[in-house]
Amino acid sequence: MSDLYLRFVNTPVGKSAAQSLGLPAPVPLKRWQRADQPFIEGDVLVGAAKGGKAIAGVGSILSASPANVFHASGADTIADSAKAGDKTTALDLGGDIEQKFSALVFDATGLTGPSELRALYDFFHPIIRKLASNGRVLIIGQDPTHSRKPAQAAAQRALEGFTRSIGKEVGKKGATANLLLIASGAEKQIESSVRFFLSPRSAYVSGQVARIAKSAQAATATNPVAPLSGKVALVTGASRGIGESIAETLARDGATVIGLDIPPAMDDLQKVTDRIKGKALACDITDSQAPKQIADFVKEHFDGIDLVVHNAGITRDKTLGNMPEHFWDMAIAVNLTAEELIDEELLSQELLRENGRIVCVSSISGIAGNFGQTNYSCAKSGVIGYVEAMAKQLKNGITINAVAPGFIETQMTAAMPLTIREAGRRMNSLSQGGQPVDVAEAIAWYCNPASVGVNGNVVRVCGQSLIGK
Ligand code: NAD
Repeated sequence: MSDLYLRFVNTPVGKSAAQSLGLPAPVPLKRWQRADQPFIEGDVLVGAAKGGKAIAGVGSILSASPANVFHASGADTIADSAKAGDKTTALDLGGDIEQKFSALVFDATGLTGPSELRALYDFFHPIIRKLASNGRVLIIGQDPTHSRKPAQAAAQRALEGFTRSIGKEVGKKGATANLLLIASGAEKQIESSVRFFLSPRSAYVSGQVARIAKSAQAATATNPVAPLSGKVALVTGASRGIGESIAETLARDGATVIGLDIPPAMDDLQKVTDRIKGKALACDITDSQAPKQIADFVKEHFDGIDLVVHNAGITRDKTLGNMPEHFWDMAIAVNLTAEELIDEELLSQELLRENGRIVCVSSISGIAGNFGQTNYSCAKSGVIGYVEAMAKQLKNGITINAVAPGFIETQMTAAMPLTIREAGRRMNSLSQGGQPVDVAEAIAWYCNPASVGVNGNVVRVCGQSLIGK
């Protein structure tokens, strides 16, 4: 779907009109484009508060990119930045800084109390205006829910407010800010997440907190061009919109995709699966036989499955007093109940292989609630509860996570009345709607075999929407 305003404000006339009228001027987002594209290019500045545990790992991840990596110097509070390694060049933050940075990465894992938060100011204050358009801010902290020390928990929790505020400040440049919270011992499992959050693949993800737990599985080094080679994926609702993009993105990353959709969508679905050399399955996921039908299809064509993406969803909007009962029942059945029943069948028949991935598609409506969507918000909120509980129970290295899209340009949002659609597009830090591929890229990050500790997360793909917490 096309955003004419975004195109207009990026013409010379549109730019000056937006400036003089004080209107939002969204910057076109750079998305991932080619197979050999590095995850980050240009100048990158890294820094660490004293005692940082992730900085050495960050330095070595960046050393595999063509970026010129600098480490911050010039203040005692950030003296540990040099631990980023020999391949980085010191940059005095007190001096004149000429260049623009494609990313600013700060390791805050060492913060043990509120007084040490000064390190954030010492690192970011001199440099934040030097963040390039479409730049990335990534902060790495320790999960405060694991801390028994209140002062440390306070300092680590403080990173959330800080990151979200930076996201709101840099959004007008098309730049993003995110926070990775790692559990003690998970320092070696951050690579796929650091790559994702620094890359154009996370163009529409901002103001988010992702958690990485310590996993018994090794964060397998994967082929960055085709990390999902040899994997079999099921994507529900794959004939169009976000599902079509998920199917294409997982296939791009090497997976063989079973696309599923309702029988009336078979023509469109077949076109998608033919294009990506996948298989098409006609199935209504609310049918009582659907879980068995899916399991039988998997057994007939493959001996198991690695990735299950529950994308199929519907809205049936009406205020509660006006809502017919079948609107309620359908929204709950498609968006929530079917996912649980399909997983139950695949798990009980042991068809989901070791290191498998389940990904659910929630919505910011499930986080914030929405007028006229009691049924949909209820179901999408239930998805979050399901993911959080399942994450604690799954075995064999299987993870489960959710994405919660905000306003994404699809047929679903094109059907909205104009004024609501315009408000939805602009009410976020990036002042624009996301594309289906933005949701698909976040799902591909969850599905990456190296994302072993990424479990039980709900990451919003919403450009840091003003709606929600
Ligand atoms: P869409 O309507 O374009 O696509 C949904 C797909 O699901 C369709 O192909 C449809 O045929 C399929 N589907 C519906 N009921 C089904 C059933 N019973 N069995 C099998 N397939 C079924 O929607 P979209 O915008 O691409 O949304 C995809 C997912 O993202 C949904 O879960 C939606 O709730 C969620 N989401 C979308 C947005 C957005 O802005 N577009 C925002 C938040 C969440």
